[in-house]
Amino acid sequence: MTSPNEEPVMNTAEMHTIEHLAATFLRNHPEFGRKTIYFGPMGCRTGFYLLLAGEQSSAGIIPLMKEMYTFIAGFEGEVPGAHPKDCGNYLDMNLPMAKYLANKYLSEVLENITEDRLVYPQ
Ligand SMILES: [Zn+2]
Repeated sequence: MTSPNEEPVMNTAEMHTIEHLAATFLRNHPEFGRKTIYFGPMGCRTGFYLLLAGEQSSAGIIPLMKEMYTFIAGFEGEVPGAHPKDCGNYLDMNLPMAKYLANKYLSEVLENITEDRLVYPQ
């Protein structure tokens, strides 16, 4: 989500919020809900890992990523799972920044994504 070693990484509160919202979105997705194995933050705080069951390609999940980040960017209300019975650090949330980052990623990367963004550079 951020350009490695070039721009500031995301803070933990907004990453935590994105994690909760993305996990909720993916779990409830009609097609990918059953295929979702894991969604979680990278330790370097530049992005997230998504593990899906079955044969998937980066290009093939662009619609899912657009749908997910649109969901996060437009989310209103109480962050799902932000409750002491569901989360070990439930106060560490930043919904406005999570929405800002989701919108930034959508508009700067996902909306007009190019082939070179779908593979790791050699
Ligand atoms: Zn949590």
